[in-house]
Formats: sequence, structure tokens, C-alpha cells
Amino acid sequence: TESPRGLGEHAVRAPRGPERTAKSWGAEAAKRMLMNNLDPEVAEHPEDLVVYGGTGRAARSWEAYDAIVRTLDELEPDETLLVQSGKPVGVFRTHEWAPRVLIANSNLVGDWATWPEFRRLEALGLTMYGQMTAGSWIYIGTQGILQGTYETFAAVARSLGRDDLSGTLTLTGGAGGMGGAQPLAVTLNGGAVLIVDVDESRLARRVQHGYLDEYTTDLDAALARVVAAKEAGEARSVGVVGNAAEVFGDVLLRQRAGELAVDIVTDQTSAHDPLAYLPVGIAFADWKAEASRDPEGFTARARGSMAKHVAAMVGFQDAGAEVFDYGNSIRAEAKLGGFERAFEFPGFVPAYIRPQFAEGRGPFRWVALSGDPEDIRKTDEAVKALFPDNAGLVRWLDKAGDAVHFEGLPARICWLGYKERHLAGLKFNEMVASGELAGPIVIGRDHLDAGSVASPYRETEAMADGSDAIADWPLLNALLNTASGASWVSIHHGGGVGIGRSIHAGQVTVADGTPLAAEKLERVLTNDPGTGVMRHVDAGYDRAKEVARERGLTVPMLGE
Ligand code: NAD
Repeated sequence: TESPRGLGEHAVRAPRGPERTAKSWGAEAAKRMLMNNLDPEVAEHPEDLVVYGGTGRAARSWEAYDAIVRTLDELEPDETLLVQSGKPVGVFRTHEWAPRVLIANSNLVGDWATWPEFRRLEALGLTMYGQMTAGSWIYIGTQGILQGTYETFAAVARSLGRDDLSGTLTLTGGAGGMGGAQPLAVTLNGGAVLIVDVDESRLARRVQHGYLDEYTTDLDAALARVVAAKEAGEARSVGVVGNAAEVFGDVLLRQRAGELAVDIVTDQTSAHDPLAYLPVGIAFADWKAEASRDPEGFTARARGSMAKHVAAMVGFQDAGAEVFDYGNSIRAEAKLGGFERAFEFPGFVPAYIRPQFAEGRGPFRWVALSGDPEDIRKTDEAVKALFPDNAGLVRWLDKAGDAVHFEGLPARICWLGYKERHLAGLKFNEMVASGELAGPIVIGRDHLDAGSVASPYRETEAMADGSDAIADWPLLNALLNTASGASWVSIHHGGGVGIGRSIHAGQVTVADGTPLAAEKLERVLTNDPGTGVMRHVDAGYDRAKEVARERGLTVPMLGE
């Protein structure tokens, strides 16, 4: 029997190497990255063109995919392809500096921007959900979540006045798809961590994949291991099978008894969905049956347990620990469960990420079109040589070289800011030109970014001037990247947090070793993070104003 499109003998795999069939590297790179997003090593459900994040797609249908690939191969170096929610809709004569592809995904007029209306239009074949990097062809697999979590914990270390997390103990919950990156992110930062999950199979899986050192069902044994590691200044991760609502309280009692001191507390159980959070008193084996038998009763019990869970977190904060919400809505659910002090600790974006956004820092990623992992190793070395004083960056690149298993085309991600990214881009372009690398490098970023997203529940939560929902910024970012020479530019709606809740933009630029590419890279990789600094200057952040002054960003009303 034959496999469906996208699987088995019909699996998509991007061409590798320095020969292209398209007429420019801009078009060839867009084609390879579209294909790479659908590679079964990268995509969650390639047969449905779904890359990640629920239903985030790379193209609207297989017919649309075939037409995009064909058009990119025929596209002249002074032409631009327009893609409307995953479907190629037109080719226009532009010029060599213009993007080869312009993409708009999932956009709806405000009053119509709801999931039901989106799904109605999707069912009619008129739109698709592009998520962030699915429909803009720059997803690089699970390395992204690991690095983002690593960066958050590095920022926690800085906020504690430390170079890294050695000599600290972190307590967290949830070892699932995203939360499972936490133990490795803490140990890569040098710390000791105890992670609690009710599902033993999740902890076993993290150990199997090298994200967790070991796990046990015995809390005493687990605590002895992590306390010893903290005291010895060793990086060590230990999982314990248990309900976080109980275990967090138990550990707090031991801390109050003077047996140990937890330094950092967070949580990534799936608290955003009360049916996906196991309440105390319901056995793991009865979870699904109980949730479907009585969803309302289950929700009330889950919220009651979250109230206990968050009360323990506030207790750790009262005792002097660094405590934060990791984007799973546990504070809101605990408040619904009757715990009034739930919002006494902050969310992770205002606490750790925003100061970095004020410098235009955020996820910067690149992909080797050669397919040769050596190209990533060489670019890792080049980035370390460019920023030798950035200890967190150097540590990440060293550890990523060992710990990250490539999915699809070899890729790397790290955080760089304004007046840093273009240095890396220009260096990569030189390395392509000199033949040191085996093929061109594609340079892009996530839409979880300083200047290109409006998302009031996440990236722009609690902006200093209250401008959380203003979406002019991502549109200006996309227009500027188009004017600066990016290879493809995209404007999306609804990524990350869902339809109606975000508007965001992306850019990808190719380093093909030509002088023209160098000129484009210098402008795009300066201007793109520059919009992050600009956005935070406008919102009144002092650090952004300093960065603008020190690094020479012109903001007309900066002095006022
Ligand atoms: P997941 O469903 O894959 O994993 C959740 C884990 O929590 C499961 O292993 C489950 O067994 C465990 N769990 C449930 N109830 C528990 C309890 N009472 N005690 C201990 N363990 C319990 O989810 P995920 O993809 O890992 O995401 C986790 C949460 O983090 C989600 O709410 C998600 O929205 C949020 N998240 C936020 C960000 C961000 O904004 N930074 C990024 C990723 C995920």
C-alpha cells in the first residue's frame, strides 16, 4: 500500500549542497526551507502539511505546495512571488533588492478574528493557520524550545547577580513536550534541579533523550541528590514522580524546617487547560475517565489543587526564592481556585525577557543549505570568536554542539541583539564566499521577538505604557525588512496564543557569499532588531533609550 503525500516514499526532504535549480539563491533558499519544514524529521504531521503548534502549516494544500515549488524554480532574480495563507497567488516584476517571496498568513479583519470564523474560512479552503515559523518557512525543530528555556534560566541567573546557576537549586513541575526542556536548560546553565511530574513515562522519556539525568519515585532520595549537587556546585537534574500540588508543599515544609533552600521556583505543568492538570486525590490511572465523566467537577478540583500549588510557590517567594510563572496561566487558574495572592509573582516575559527585548535581543537562527553539520560547527566557532565576552552565549554554543541532535537541515539558534546580528551575518557571508563553508547559510528568527510582535498575553504583556495590543509595530517591522533587502518577509496573525490574540512578522535573509548579499545582510540584520529597540524606546524603557544612544539608533523623539 502506498503512503500518503508527505510520508514514506513521498516524504519531503530539502535538496542539499551548493548546486541550485532555482535562478537565485533567494528563491532556492525559500524552496529548501519550505521543504525542510515538511521533512518528517522536522514536521509533526507532514501528511497534513502541519509543522508544529497545533495546526501550524507550511502550505495550504499539496497542490499549493507543488505550485510554490514550481514557481520558485522558475522565478527570475528580479521577480517576487506573493503567498496568501499558504497558496501562491501572483508573481510580480520587482528588482534584485526586493524579497523573492512576500507572505501573509491567517490575517482577518478585527471583528472577524475569532477561531470559529477562522475555522469556517479554513474549511472553505480560503485560509490556513501559519503559526509563527511554520507558514514562514524557518522552523528548526525542538532546538528552539531548549534554547529559549536555556536563555530564560540564564536571565534568571543574571537577575540573581550570578554568572550561571552553579550552587543553586531550582524546583519546577511538568516534564511534557515543552516543559521537558527545563531540566537540561538548568543543567546547561550549571545548576541543580528537581522536576515533578505525575506521569512517570514523561520522566522516563526525558532520561532516554538525555534531557534529564535520572528520576525516582522517592522524594527523600531525590532531594538528597539535588541538595548534594547544589552544595558541590554541580549541574544535576533529578525527576520525581508525584503531584506538584503536593510535592511543592512538602518541599516548602522541609525548607521551613531548615533542611534545604530552594533558590528558584517555576512550573510548566499544562495548567492552561484544567482538564490537563491532575488534581490531588484523583489517581493517575483514573485521570482521563474522571475528566470526561465530570469535566466541571474535575475543573473545580484541578483549580483547587493549583491554588495549593501556587500557594506553595508564593511561600517560596516569601522565603526569598526567585519565583516566576512560565507562561502556563497557573496564576489565573489558582486565582479562580480561590487563592487571592496568586499574582504576587511575575510572568517570565516582564521578569526576564523584556530587558533583553529592550536591547533588540531575541532568537536568531541560521541553517546550513549544504546539509553539512560541519558548516554549523564552523559558524558556532565564528560566533564565539565574535562575542568572546558573552559567557552565556559561548556556554550555550559549546553545550549545543554536544547536546543538540539536528532535525532536518543542520541549524543553530542563539540570542543576539541590535548591532550584533549583522556582524554574524557578514561573517557567515565571508565564510561562504571564501569556500570555508560548503554552501549558503539562511539567517532568520522566531516571531517571539523584540520588535515584530504584538501579543498582549505573551510578548507584549504589561508593556510600561499600556501599549500591549498596538499592532502597528509588527507591520512596520515587515515593511522595513522588505525595504532593507530580506529574502522573504511574512506577516501573520494568531501565532503562539491563537486567533484574535497576536499579529507578528518574520524575515529570512540568505548569505550566498556575494557582495550584494553582504549589503542586504548588513541592513536587514541591523534594522530588524533595531525595531525592537525602537518599540521599547517608544514604550518608555530606559534600557532601550540607553541602547539607542550608545549604539546609534536614530529615534526622532528620543530626547523628549
Ligand atoms: P504537556 O501537556 O506536554 O506536559 C504537561 C505535563 O504536566 C505532563 O507531563 C503532565 O503529566 C504534567 N502534569 C499535569 N498535572 C500535573 C500535576 N498536578 N503535577 C505534576 N505534573 C503534572 O505540555 P507542554 O507542551 O510541556 O507545556 C506545558 C505548559 O507550559 C503549557 O501550559 C504551555 O502552554 C506552557 N508553555 C508556555 C511557554 C511559554 O510561553 N514560555 C512555552 C511552552 C509551554
